Amino acid sequence: MTTRQDCLALDAADRLAPLRELFEIPEGLIYLDGNSLGVLPRATPARVQQVVREEWGRDLIQSWNTAGWIDLPRRVGDKIARLIGADAGEVVAADSTSVNLYKVLTAASHITRQDQPTRRVIVSERSNFPTDLYIAESLARELGWTLRLIEADEVEAALTPDVAVLMLTHVNYRTGRMHEMAAVTRAAHAAGALVVWDLAHSAGAVPVDLRAADADFAVGCGYKYLNGGPGAPAFVWAHPRHADRFWQPLAGWMGHAAPFRFTPDYEPAPGIARYLCGTPAVIAMSALECGVDTVLAAEPLGGMAALREKSIALTSLFAELVEARCAGHGLTVVSPREPRLRGSQVCLTRAEGAYAIVQALIARRVVGDFRAGDVQTPDILRFGFTPLYTRYVDVWDAVEQLVQVMESGQWREARFHQRATVT
Ligand SMILES: *Cc1c(COP(=O)(O)O)cnc(C)c1O
Repeated sequence: MTTRQDCLALDAADRLAPLRELFEIPEGLIYLDGNSLGVLPRATPARVQQVVREEWGRDLIQSWNTAGWIDLPRRVGDKIARLIGADAGEVVAADSTSVNLYKVLTAASHITRQDQPTRRVIVSERSNFPTDLYIAESLARELGWTLRLIEADEVEAALTPDVAVLMLTHVNYRTGRMHEMAAVTRAAHAAGALVVWDLAHSAGAVPVDLRAADADFAVGCGYKYLNGGPGAPAFVWAHPRHADRFWQPLAGWMGHAAPFRFTPDYEPAPGIARYLCGTPAVIAMSALECGVDTVLAAEPLGGMAALREKSIALTSLFAELVEARCAGHGLTVVSPREPRLRGSQVCLTRAEGAYAIVQALIARRVVGDFRAGDVQTPDILRFGFTPLYTRYVDVWDAVEQLVQVMESGQWREARFHQRATVT
Protein backbone atom coordinates (compact mmCIF):
# COMPACT_ATOMS: atom_id res chain seq x y z
CA MET A 1 0.00 0.00 0.00
CA THR A 2 1.12 3.56 -0.70
CA THR A 3 2.68 5.20 2.37
CA ARG A 4 2.78 8.85 3.40
CA GLN A 5 6.48 8.77 2.53
CA ASP A 6 5.63 7.57 -1.00
CA CYS A 7 3.22 10.50 -1.33
CA LEU A 8 5.89 12.99 -0.32
CA ALA A 9 8.19 11.45 -2.93
CA LEU A 10 5.47 11.74 -5.58
CA ASP A 11 5.05 15.43 -4.72
CA ALA A 12 8.80 16.01 -4.91
CA ALA A 13 8.85 14.50 -8.40
CA ASP A 14 5.68 16.25 -9.60
CA ARG A 15 6.48 18.77 -12.33
CA LEU A 16 3.06 20.41 -11.83
CA ALA A 17 3.79 21.03 -8.13
CA PRO A 18 4.91 24.69 -8.63
CA LEU A 19 1.41 25.57 -9.87
CA ARG A 20 0.17 25.36 -6.27
CA GLU A 21 2.00 28.64 -5.70
CA LEU A 22 -0.54 30.34 -7.96
CA PHE A 23 -3.17 29.96 -5.23
CA GLU A 24 -3.92 31.24 -1.76
CA ILE A 25 -4.71 28.11 0.17
CA PRO A 26 -5.40 28.60 3.88
CA GLU A 27 -2.67 27.14 6.06
CA GLY A 28 -3.34 23.56 7.07
CA LEU A 29 -6.47 23.21 4.95
CA ILE A 30 -6.95 20.23 2.65
CA TYR A 31 -9.42 21.49 0.12
CA LEU A 32 -11.16 18.76 -1.86
CA ASP A 33 -14.06 20.86 -3.10
CA GLY A 34 -12.59 22.65 -6.13
CA ASN A 35 -15.32 20.90 -8.12
CA SER A 36 -17.83 23.12 -6.33
CA LEU A 37 -15.86 26.33 -5.76
CA GLY A 38 -12.26 26.61 -6.91
CA VAL A 39 -9.76 28.27 -4.55
CA LEU A 40 -8.65 31.89 -4.80
CA PRO A 41 -5.84 32.53 -7.30
CA ARG A 42 -3.12 34.75 -5.86
CA ALA A 43 -3.46 37.14 -8.79
CA THR A 44 -7.17 37.77 -8.29
CA PRO A 45 -7.27 40.25 -5.35
CA ALA A 46 -4.79 42.62 -6.97
CA ARG A 47 -6.51 42.37 -10.34
CA VAL A 48 -9.95 43.01 -8.85
CA GLN A 49 -8.49 45.90 -6.85
CA GLN A 50 -7.04 47.36 -10.06
CA VAL A 51 -10.34 47.01 -11.91
CA VAL A 52 -12.19 48.69 -9.05
CA ARG A 53 -9.68 51.40 -8.09
CA GLU A 54 -8.14 52.33 -11.42
CA GLU A 55 -10.39 51.19 -14.22
CA TRP A 56 -13.66 51.99 -12.51
CA GLY A 57 -12.66 54.48 -9.80
CA ARG A 58 -10.28 56.62 -11.81
CA ASP A 59 -11.01 56.08 -15.48
CA LEU A 60 -14.73 55.47 -15.17
CA ILE A 61 -16.68 55.00 -18.37
CA GLN A 62 -13.65 55.33 -20.64
CA SER A 63 -12.58 51.93 -19.40
CA TRP A 64 -15.09 50.24 -21.67
CA ASN A 65 -12.61 51.14 -24.40
CA THR A 66 -9.29 51.86 -22.70
CA ALA A 67 -9.32 48.85 -20.37
CA GLY A 68 -10.98 46.59 -22.93
CA TRP A 69 -14.04 45.87 -20.78
CA ILE A 70 -16.21 45.50 -23.86
CA ASP A 71 -13.95 42.70 -25.16
CA LEU A 72 -13.91 40.69 -21.92
CA PRO A 73 -16.58 38.11 -22.87
CA ARG A 74 -14.70 37.28 -26.06
CA ARG A 75 -11.21 37.54 -24.60
CA VAL A 76 -12.00 35.24 -21.71
CA GLY A 77 -13.98 33.02 -24.10
CA ASP A 78 -10.91 32.63 -26.33
CA LYS A 79 -8.87 31.51 -23.33
CA ILE A 80 -11.50 28.97 -22.29
CA ALA A 81 -11.66 27.73 -25.89
CA ARG A 82 -8.08 26.47 -25.52
CA LEU A 83 -9.21 24.17 -22.70
CA ILE A 84 -12.19 22.62 -24.45
CA GLY A 85 -11.02 21.98 -28.02
CA ALA A 86 -12.73 24.99 -29.57
CA ASP A 87 -11.17 27.61 -31.82
CA ALA A 88 -10.66 31.27 -30.99
CA GLY A 89 -13.86 33.21 -31.64
CA GLU A 90 -16.11 30.24 -30.85
CA VAL A 91 -16.68 30.75 -27.10
CA VAL A 92 -17.98 33.63 -25.02
CA ALA A 93 -18.03 34.03 -21.25
CA ALA A 94 -21.43 35.27 -20.12
CA ASP A 95 -24.33 34.82 -17.73
CA SER A 96 -24.71 31.60 -15.72
CA THR A 97 -24.56 27.97 -16.77
CA SER A 98 -28.33 27.73 -16.32
CA VAL A 99 -29.00 30.73 -18.57
CA ASN A 100 -26.54 29.59 -21.22
CA LEU A 101 -28.11 26.17 -21.24
CA TYR A 102 -31.47 27.76 -21.96
CA LYS A 103 -29.95 29.61 -24.91
CA VAL A 104 -28.32 26.58 -26.54
CA LEU A 105 -31.13 24.18 -25.82
CA THR A 106 -33.56 26.61 -27.42
CA ALA A 107 -31.27 27.04 -30.42
CA ALA A 108 -31.01 23.26 -30.79
CA SER A 109 -34.77 22.92 -30.58
CA HIS A 110 -35.23 25.58 -33.28
CA ILE A 111 -32.89 23.75 -35.60
CA THR A 112 -34.77 20.50 -35.07
CA ARG A 113 -38.16 22.10 -35.54
CA GLN A 114 -37.01 23.38 -38.89
CA ASP A 115 -35.09 20.31 -40.10
CA GLN A 116 -36.93 17.39 -38.48
CA PRO A 117 -40.26 18.60 -37.07
CA THR A 118 -41.43 15.16 -35.95
CA ARG A 119 -38.75 14.99 -33.28
CA ARG A 120 -40.07 16.44 -30.02
CA VAL A 121 -38.14 14.82 -27.20
CA ILE A 122 -35.20 16.02 -25.11
CA VAL A 123 -33.29 13.18 -23.48
CA SER A 124 -31.18 13.65 -20.36
CA GLU A 125 -29.94 11.73 -17.38
CA ARG A 126 -32.11 11.39 -14.30
CA SER A 127 -29.06 12.09 -12.16
CA ASN A 128 -28.04 15.18 -14.12
CA PHE A 129 -27.58 18.35 -12.08
CA PRO A 130 -31.13 19.55 -11.29
CA THR A 131 -30.85 23.01 -12.85
CA ASP A 132 -30.12 21.38 -16.21
CA LEU A 133 -33.27 19.29 -15.88
CA TYR A 134 -35.38 22.24 -14.76
CA ILE A 135 -34.26 24.34 -17.71
CA ALA A 136 -35.00 21.47 -20.12
CA GLU A 137 -38.37 20.84 -18.49
CA SER A 138 -39.29 24.50 -18.79
CA LEU A 139 -38.37 24.59 -22.47
CA ALA A 140 -40.19 21.31 -23.15
CA ARG A 141 -43.35 22.79 -21.58
CA GLU A 142 -43.04 25.90 -23.71
CA LEU A 143 -42.72 23.85 -26.90
CA GLY A 144 -45.17 21.09 -26.01
CA TRP A 145 -42.23 18.66 -26.08
CA THR A 146 -41.26 15.88 -23.66
CA LEU A 147 -38.24 15.63 -21.40
CA ARG A 148 -37.30 11.96 -21.11
CA LEU A 149 -35.00 10.96 -18.25
CA ILE A 150 -32.76 7.92 -18.46
CA GLU A 151 -29.89 6.28 -16.59
CA ALA A 152 -26.27 6.85 -17.63
CA ASP A 153 -25.92 3.45 -19.31
CA GLU A 154 -29.13 3.77 -21.32
CA VAL A 155 -28.01 6.54 -23.67
CA GLU A 156 -27.68 4.55 -26.88
CA ALA A 157 -30.95 2.71 -26.33
CA ALA A 158 -32.71 6.02 -25.67
CA LEU A 159 -31.82 7.47 -29.09
CA THR A 160 -35.15 6.66 -30.70
CA PRO A 161 -36.45 8.43 -33.85
CA ASP A 162 -38.45 10.97 -31.80
CA VAL A 163 -35.38 12.40 -30.04
CA ALA A 164 -34.50 15.96 -30.98
CA VAL A 165 -31.76 16.75 -28.48
CA LEU A 166 -29.55 14.71 -26.22
CA MET A 167 -28.48 16.92 -23.31
CA LEU A 168 -25.80 15.44 -21.09
CA THR A 169 -23.39 16.63 -18.47
CA HIS A 170 -20.01 15.22 -19.51
CA VAL A 171 -18.92 14.41 -15.93
CA ASN A 172 -21.75 13.61 -13.52
CA TYR A 173 -21.79 15.96 -10.53
CA ARG A 174 -22.62 13.17 -8.08
CA THR A 175 -20.82 10.06 -9.22
CA GLY A 176 -17.99 11.60 -11.23
CA ARG A 177 -18.84 9.25 -14.08
CA MET A 178 -17.63 10.60 -17.42
CA HIS A 179 -19.31 10.00 -20.75
CA GLU A 180 -17.17 9.22 -23.78
CA MET A 181 -17.95 12.43 -25.60
CA ALA A 182 -16.90 11.46 -29.12
CA ALA A 183 -18.61 8.06 -29.09
CA VAL A 184 -21.85 9.39 -27.58
CA THR A 185 -21.94 12.31 -30.00
CA ARG A 186 -21.39 9.97 -32.93
CA ALA A 187 -24.22 7.70 -31.78
CA ALA A 188 -26.57 10.65 -31.32
CA HIS A 189 -25.80 12.05 -34.76
CA ALA A 190 -26.24 8.62 -36.32
CA ALA A 191 -29.67 8.54 -34.69
CA GLY A 192 -30.47 12.03 -36.03
CA ALA A 193 -30.28 13.96 -32.73
CA LEU A 194 -28.27 17.04 -31.75
CA VAL A 195 -26.06 16.96 -28.66
CA VAL A 196 -25.68 19.61 -25.95
CA TRP A 197 -22.82 19.03 -23.50
CA ASP A 198 -22.59 20.60 -20.08
CA LEU A 199 -18.90 20.90 -19.19
CA ALA A 200 -19.41 22.18 -15.62
CA HIS A 201 -17.24 19.41 -14.14
CA SER A 202 -14.97 19.07 -17.19
CA ALA A 203 -13.55 22.46 -18.15
CA GLY A 204 -10.15 22.73 -16.49
CA ALA A 205 -10.52 19.23 -15.03
CA VAL A 206 -10.32 16.80 -17.93
CA PRO A 207 -9.25 17.20 -21.56
CA VAL A 208 -12.20 18.11 -23.76
CA ASP A 209 -12.13 18.29 -27.55
CA LEU A 210 -15.48 19.62 -28.74
CA ARG A 211 -14.36 19.98 -32.35
CA ALA A 212 -12.87 16.49 -32.57
CA ALA A 213 -16.05 15.08 -31.01
CA ASP A 214 -18.09 17.11 -33.54
CA ALA A 215 -20.39 18.25 -30.73
CA ASP A 216 -23.21 20.70 -31.45
CA PHE A 217 -23.42 22.96 -28.39
CA ALA A 218 -21.72 23.26 -25.01
CA VAL A 219 -21.94 25.29 -21.83
CA GLY A 220 -19.82 25.27 -18.70
CA CYS A 221 -19.16 26.81 -15.35
CA GLY A 222 -16.60 29.45 -14.32
CA TYR A 223 -16.41 28.94 -10.56
CA LYS A 224 -15.50 25.25 -10.33
CA TYR A 225 -12.25 24.01 -11.89
CA LEU A 226 -11.74 27.37 -13.64
CA ASN A 227 -11.32 29.10 -10.25
CA GLY A 228 -13.29 32.18 -11.30
CA GLY A 229 -14.80 32.91 -7.88
CA PRO A 230 -18.30 32.49 -6.42
CA GLY A 231 -20.96 33.06 -9.05
CA ALA A 232 -18.36 33.66 -11.78
CA PRO A 233 -19.73 34.05 -15.31
CA ALA A 234 -20.19 30.82 -17.26
CA PHE A 235 -19.36 30.11 -20.92
CA VAL A 236 -21.11 28.99 -24.07
CA TRP A 237 -20.00 27.38 -27.32
CA ALA A 238 -21.92 26.63 -30.50
CA HIS A 239 -20.43 24.71 -33.40
CA PRO A 240 -19.86 27.23 -36.21
CA ARG A 241 -22.24 25.24 -38.43
CA HIS A 242 -25.05 26.20 -36.03
CA ALA A 243 -23.93 29.53 -34.59
CA ASP A 244 -25.41 31.72 -37.31
CA ARG A 245 -28.61 29.79 -37.91
CA PHE A 246 -30.83 31.24 -35.22
CA TRP A 247 -31.25 34.07 -32.84
CA GLN A 248 -30.75 32.67 -29.44
CA PRO A 249 -33.88 33.38 -27.35
CA LEU A 250 -32.37 36.06 -25.11
CA ALA A 251 -31.57 38.48 -27.90
CA GLY A 252 -30.01 41.41 -26.08
CA TRP A 253 -28.05 44.41 -27.21
CA MET A 254 -24.63 42.89 -26.47
CA GLY A 255 -25.44 40.16 -28.98
CA HIS A 256 -26.37 42.72 -31.64
CA ALA A 257 -24.13 43.13 -34.69
CA ALA A 258 -23.59 46.80 -33.76
CA PRO A 259 -24.80 47.56 -30.22
CA PHE A 260 -23.77 51.17 -30.36
CA ARG A 261 -25.82 51.95 -33.44
CA PHE A 262 -28.83 51.72 -31.07
CA THR A 263 -31.20 50.60 -33.79
CA PRO A 264 -34.76 49.61 -32.80
CA ASP A 265 -34.52 46.34 -34.69
CA TYR A 266 -32.33 43.40 -33.75
CA GLU A 267 -29.61 42.22 -36.06
CA PRO A 268 -27.67 39.35 -34.49
CA ALA A 269 -23.89 39.50 -34.45
CA PRO A 270 -22.25 36.80 -36.56
CA GLY A 271 -21.08 33.68 -34.75
CA ILE A 272 -20.99 33.10 -31.02
CA ALA A 273 -21.16 36.83 -30.15
CA ARG A 274 -24.94 36.67 -30.61
CA TYR A 275 -25.05 34.43 -27.53
CA LEU A 276 -24.27 37.46 -25.40
CA CYS A 277 -27.27 39.16 -23.90
CA GLY A 278 -26.68 42.16 -21.60
CA THR A 279 -23.76 44.12 -20.18
CA PRO A 280 -20.93 41.89 -18.93
CA ALA A 281 -20.23 41.71 -15.18
CA VAL A 282 -16.82 43.35 -15.52
CA ILE A 283 -15.48 42.77 -12.02
CA ALA A 284 -16.57 39.14 -11.95
CA MET A 285 -15.30 38.60 -15.49
CA SER A 286 -11.89 40.01 -14.51
CA ALA A 287 -11.71 37.56 -11.61
CA LEU A 288 -12.72 34.75 -13.95
CA GLU A 289 -9.88 35.67 -16.29
CA CYS A 290 -7.39 35.26 -13.42
CA GLY A 291 -8.89 31.86 -12.69
CA VAL A 292 -8.70 30.68 -16.30
CA ASP A 293 -5.10 31.90 -16.42
CA THR A 294 -4.20 29.49 -13.58
CA VAL A 295 -5.27 26.58 -15.76
CA LEU A 296 -3.50 27.98 -18.81
CA ALA A 297 -0.36 28.27 -16.68
CA ALA A 298 -0.12 24.48 -16.99
CA GLU A 299 0.33 24.73 -20.77
CA PRO A 300 4.17 24.88 -20.70
CA LEU A 301 4.11 21.90 -18.30
CA GLY A 302 2.03 19.63 -20.50
CA GLY A 303 -1.35 21.35 -20.27
CA MET A 304 -4.60 19.49 -19.80
CA ALA A 305 -2.96 16.14 -20.66
CA ALA A 306 -0.51 16.53 -17.77
CA LEU A 307 -3.26 17.76 -15.44
CA ARG A 308 -5.38 14.76 -16.40
CA GLU A 309 -2.54 12.37 -15.69
CA LYS A 310 -2.11 13.82 -12.21
CA SER A 311 -5.85 13.93 -11.62
CA ILE A 312 -6.13 10.22 -12.40
CA ALA A 313 -3.23 9.48 -10.08
CA LEU A 314 -4.83 11.50 -7.25
CA THR A 315 -8.31 10.02 -7.61
CA SER A 316 -6.95 6.48 -7.97
CA LEU A 317 -4.81 6.95 -4.88
CA PHE A 318 -7.75 8.25 -2.86
CA ALA A 319 -9.99 5.33 -3.84
CA GLU A 320 -7.20 2.84 -3.14
CA LEU A 321 -6.42 4.30 0.29
CA VAL A 322 -10.08 4.56 1.32
CA GLU A 323 -10.69 0.92 0.44
CA ALA A 324 -7.53 -0.26 2.15
CA ARG A 325 -7.64 1.88 5.28
CA CYS A 326 -11.38 2.34 5.91
CA ALA A 327 -12.33 -1.30 5.33
CA GLY A 328 -15.08 -2.41 7.69
CA HIS A 329 -16.55 1.07 8.12
CA GLY A 330 -19.27 0.70 5.52
CA LEU A 331 -17.87 3.17 3.00
CA THR A 332 -18.23 2.31 -0.68
CA VAL A 333 -16.48 4.00 -3.60
CA VAL A 334 -19.22 4.72 -6.15
CA SER A 335 -17.21 6.57 -8.79
CA PRO A 336 -16.10 4.41 -11.71
CA ARG A 337 -12.84 2.60 -10.98
CA GLU A 338 -11.76 2.74 -14.60
CA PRO A 339 -10.00 6.11 -15.02
CA ARG A 340 -11.32 6.49 -18.58
CA LEU A 341 -14.84 6.73 -17.17
CA ARG A 342 -14.08 9.02 -14.24
CA GLY A 343 -13.75 12.78 -13.97
CA SER A 344 -11.62 14.47 -11.32
CA GLN A 345 -13.68 13.48 -8.29
CA VAL A 346 -14.34 10.44 -6.13
CA CYS A 347 -17.64 9.83 -4.36
CA LEU A 348 -18.29 7.55 -1.46
CA THR A 349 -21.55 6.30 -0.03
CA ARG A 350 -22.49 4.95 3.36
CA ALA A 351 -25.87 3.66 4.44
CA GLU A 352 -25.87 6.11 7.34
CA GLY A 353 -24.11 9.29 8.36
CA ALA A 354 -22.79 10.64 5.05
CA TYR A 355 -23.62 14.24 5.98
CA ALA A 356 -22.14 13.99 9.49
CA ILE A 357 -18.94 12.34 8.27
CA VAL A 358 -18.39 15.22 5.84
CA GLN A 359 -19.01 17.71 8.68
CA ALA A 360 -16.59 15.89 11.00
CA LEU A 361 -13.95 16.00 8.25
CA ILE A 362 -14.53 19.73 7.73
CA ALA A 363 -13.98 20.26 11.47
CA ARG A 364 -10.63 18.53 10.92
CA ARG A 365 -9.83 20.90 8.06
CA VAL A 366 -10.52 18.44 5.25
CA VAL A 367 -13.16 20.00 3.02
CA GLY A 368 -15.32 17.82 0.80
CA ASP A 369 -19.07 18.07 0.42
CA PHE A 370 -22.29 16.16 0.76
CA ARG A 371 -24.98 15.60 -1.84
CA ALA A 372 -28.33 14.29 -0.68
CA GLY A 373 -29.81 11.27 -2.36
CA ASP A 374 -33.45 10.34 -2.85
CA VAL A 375 -35.40 7.10 -3.14
CA GLN A 376 -33.35 6.03 -6.15
CA THR A 377 -29.89 7.36 -5.33
CA PRO A 378 -27.89 7.17 -2.11
CA ASP A 379 -26.49 10.11 -0.15
CA ILE A 380 -22.91 10.74 -1.16
CA LEU A 381 -19.69 12.13 0.27
CA ARG A 382 -17.99 13.95 -2.58
CA PHE A 383 -14.30 14.75 -2.92
CA GLY A 384 -12.89 16.76 -5.83
CA PHE A 385 -9.21 16.67 -6.73
CA THR A 386 -7.84 19.71 -8.50
CA PRO A 387 -4.44 18.74 -9.89
CA LEU A 388 -3.36 22.40 -10.02
CA TYR A 389 -3.11 22.60 -6.25
CA THR A 390 -3.82 19.23 -4.64
CA ARG A 391 -0.77 17.30 -3.48
CA TYR A 392 -0.39 13.54 -3.11
CA VAL A 393 0.29 14.06 0.59
CA ASP A 394 -3.05 15.90 0.87
CA VAL A 395 -4.75 12.74 -0.38
CA TRP A 396 -2.93 10.66 2.21
CA ASP A 397 -3.69 13.09 5.04
CA ALA A 398 -7.35 13.39 4.04
CA VAL A 399 -7.77 9.62 4.20
CA GLU A 400 -5.95 9.58 7.56
CA GLN A 401 -8.55 12.03 8.91
CA LEU A 402 -11.35 9.91 7.47
CA VAL A 403 -9.90 6.85 9.19
CA GLN A 404 -9.86 8.75 12.50
CA VAL A 405 -13.43 10.03 12.06
CA MET A 406 -14.63 6.48 11.43
CA GLU A 407 -12.57 4.71 14.07
CA SER A 408 -13.43 7.20 16.81
CA GLY A 409 -17.10 7.30 15.82
CA GLN A 410 -16.78 11.07 16.17
CA TRP A 411 -19.23 11.65 13.33
CA ARG A 412 -22.02 10.48 15.64
CA GLU A 413 -21.72 13.67 17.71
CA ALA A 414 -24.88 15.79 17.49
CA ARG A 415 -23.00 18.89 16.29
CA PHE A 416 -22.13 17.16 13.01
CA HIS A 417 -25.78 16.48 12.23
CA GLN A 418 -26.97 20.10 12.07
CA ARG A 419 -27.83 20.89 8.46
CA ALA A 420 -26.89 24.28 7.04
CA THR A 421 -28.67 25.77 4.01
CA VAL A 422 -25.81 25.04 1.61
CA THR A 423 -24.40 21.53 1.89
C1 LIG B 1 -22.45 23.63 -11.11
C2 LIG B 1 -23.40 23.23 -12.19
C3 LIG B 1 -24.33 24.13 -12.69
C4 LIG B 1 -24.45 25.50 -12.08
O1 LIG B 1 -25.35 26.30 -12.72
P1 LIG B 1 -25.50 27.83 -12.27
O2 LIG B 1 -26.35 28.41 -13.30
O3 LIG B 1 -24.11 28.40 -12.21
O4 LIG B 1 -26.08 27.84 -10.91
C5 LIG B 1 -25.15 23.73 -13.73
N1 LIG B 1 -25.05 22.49 -14.25
C6 LIG B 1 -24.16 21.59 -13.78
C7 LIG B 1 -24.09 20.23 -14.38
C8 LIG B 1 -23.32 21.93 -12.72
O5 LIG B 1 -22.45 21.05 -12.25
